[in-house]
Amino acid sequence: MKINGLTYLIVGIFVIITSLILDKFIVFIFVGFIFCIMGVIRLFTETKIDEELVKELKREDKFIETHGKDPSKFIKCKFCKAYNYPDAQFCHFCGRRIN
Ligand SMILES: [Zn+2]
Repeated sequence: MKINGLTYLIVGIFVIITSLILDKFIVFIFVGFIFCIMGVIRLFTETKIDEELVKELKREDKFIETHGKDPSKFIKCKFCKAYNYPDAQFCHFCGRRIN
């Protein structure tokens, strides 16, 4: 299950607004802030991961063209992070053993 940064931000803002309306729950403002901070951090991390994935996909373009377009089907080499065919024993890119 994946919760993205935007969800955290929305929940955080919602919690802050709710606690501002209901004075009794003023403590929840802090919870709201924590959620907002987590959301912002997540948004940045997600963007970074996406950029890395795009780089990898570009490098593996030819491979994916040959074997199919869905990168989630492939095993990722832990040494060079290249995508490999699910039943591959060795990485096609760096030649090291995958499993
Ligand atoms: Zn490799």
